[in-house]
Amino acid sequence: MDKVLSFHQGRLPLLISMPHAGLKLTPAVDNGLVEQARSLPDTDWHIPRLYDFARELGASVVAAEYSRFVIDLNRPDDDKPLYVGATTGLYPATLFDGEPLFKEGQAPTAEVRKTYLESIWRPYHNTLQSELARLREAHGYALLWDAHSIRSLIPHLFDGKLPDFNLGTFNGASCDPQLAERLQGVCAEAGNYSHVLNGRFKGGHITRHYGDPANHIHAVQLELAQSTYMEEVEPFAYREDLAQPTQRVLSQLLEAMLAWGRQRYGH
Ligand SMILES: [Zn+2]
Repeated sequence: MDKVLSFHQGRLPLLISMPHAGLKLTPAVDNGLVEQARSLPDTDWHIPRLYDFARELGASVVAAEYSRFVIDLNRPDDDKPLYVGATTGLYPATLFDGEPLFKEGQAPTAEVRKTYLESIWRPYHNTLQSELARLREAHGYALLWDAHSIRSLIPHLFDGKLPDFNLGTFNGASCDPQLAERLQGVCAEAGNYSHVLNGRFKGGHITRHYGDPANHIHAVQLELAQSTYMEEVEPFAYREDLAQPTQRVLSQLLEAMLAWGRQRYGH
């Protein structure tokens, strides 16, 4: 297996996770995809580029190298559905628009998929776990930001146009409520952007599993509407003019999270 993730260790008590940023395919997935899946339309496009300021800020960053079409790192390894209604699983069978992802009989076998679980899913989660443990040991607390983005119009998954900033805290279970309030405040003051807390996207497996406020690990998911920084149609071009003001808000959100941590924990 090729390199399955990239990891950068920072100096602050903040880890940014990018589980759907990957573009690599395995041979079995590459061979089996239907034509309209070949452009990887359901990728969280350009997320590492959008957050390129975060390393300079001092955050740790982990990003997937493999596409969610191979294995979805934001799903539990037992593949329990995250949401009631339409959703995609650990090994997606459909595109976001509900169309089949693989040509008939061409999906990878269960045996092959087991190797994806061990060689792609497991290392990503081991990295999350060990880095969060290191941060908590070093700082007394750890902050986890799970960074996502999605097309703002997907009738199969949700009605109407998605708000720009979709914060998820698993209905308040994954972080201190005061932190969520601070982040909402940043969005509200950001001007031309809409936002929601625990709307359609409440936080996926990563947010739910690692967020443990009683043990000083605070996790937040941001599902960002892709219309805030790119073209949502092929070839999914990054739009610097849109991205720059969006990056300012992202930076303010991360700064607010860090400021909340310093205040709450006294350093
Ligand atoms: Zn995502």
